[in-house]
Amino acid sequence: MDIFDKYETIASRRDSLLQAGLNPFGLRMDKILSPTEALINGRRTILVGTNNYLGLTFDPDCIEAGCEAMREQGTGTTGSRIANGSYVLHEQLEQAIARYLKCKSAIVFPTGYQANLGMIAGLAGPKDTILLDADSHASIYDGCRLSGATLIRFRHNDPADLDRRLSRLKNEDGVALVIVEGIYSMLGDIAPLNEFIEVKKRHGAFILVDEAHSLGVMGEHGRGVAEACGVEDDVDFVAGTFSKSLGAIGGFGASNHPHFDRLRYCSRPYMFTASASPASVVTVTKAIEKIEQNPDLIRKLWRNADALYEGLSSLGFEICAPASPVIAVRLADEQTAVYFWNRLVEEGVYVNLAIPPGTPNGVCLLRCSVSAAHSEAQIQEVCTRFAKILAEWQAQDTTASLRG
Ligand code: PMP
Repeated sequence: MDIFDKYETIASRRDSLLQAGLNPFGLRMDKILSPTEALINGRRTILVGTNNYLGLTFDPDCIEAGCEAMREQGTGTTGSRIANGSYVLHEQLEQAIARYLKCKSAIVFPTGYQANLGMIAGLAGPKDTILLDADSHASIYDGCRLSGATLIRFRHNDPADLDRRLSRLKNEDGVALVIVEGIYSMLGDIAPLNEFIEVKKRHGAFILVDEAHSLGVMGEHGRGVAEACGVEDDVDFVAGTFSKSLGAIGGFGASNHPHFDRLRYCSRPYMFTASASPASVVTVTKAIEKIEQNPDLIRKLWRNADALYEGLSSLGFEICAPASPVIAVRLADEQTAVYFWNRLVEEGVYVNLAIPPGTPNGVCLLRCSVSAAHSEAQIQEVCTRFAKILAEWQAQDTTASLRG
């Protein structure tokens, strides 16, 4: 037996994807030209699948701050936060996050993935119960496993189902921690947070909201779904990432809980990994200032999201959720989705291909993510290229249906 035998099925699926064209899960960007454009296979390509919601990856002030930090404080910290890896600039970033989110304290992690591991495995232990939305991101599931807590999944975005499951818990089930996201990464739908808060309060549970895709995106100031719903004071814990609207890398947890800082000596994913590099940390601190100073960025993002949503739905594409910066175009099956994805890349448009098991309910998606940095002309161009491929596809088989 070979150690890789267990991956035989998934490897042959990958091989059949490659026969249909490019590798959607290993595409190489030859050169990034701007937040919205790259060279792919020598072609200038519009990027509509990057999570670069506010387009801050090329912000001159963020770049300058990062370069200066690297020059002055080195390329890496070479140590964990509980040893030699806590610099003044890590604390400054934590203060900036706390100020921005109006929270008592924040803790920075090297990635968003680790933020979820560290928050969840730090907050819940083997004697506790975690109730998580069934469509939660892999990092949430992994954090739950690491915690050793009992896991109960409730139906996606269904507060009544959460209510039923909380009602069945007994004292010996320990503390109950509910976990939801803000905007869901695959379908672009949004958690009904007001209702979740009402339910969790009634049962005396805690709630953690992963605002990975909603930070910098929802709410007047970009503080996420909690701000948009007016429930910030009722959210016990926020988790988030720097790799989307903040245009860098890293993640955080934030809270008003008076004992939140205990995670710094109780959360293994915080303690046993090197801290984020000076350049990453300072870039994010600057990006937060940018969002605080330019709330118009968020409005531009939503104008673009609405325009792409309108454009694609008027062509007859099925979009999985109301307009948001994540626009998930649902196609009938994997073959159709792979065909459209390859043709879009050939035509100079990059979107994410999302297929089972990475998607909820086995749906096949072209997942588009919009940026405030897209111009109106780029959004228009993306729609034009979708329309061209659709017309070709319909001409090949006049009986085929786009919809699943
Ligand atoms: N949470 C959610 C909901 C996500 O979508 C992601 C990334 N796709 C993460 C956490 C992890 O963030 P990062 O990629 O910055 O590690």
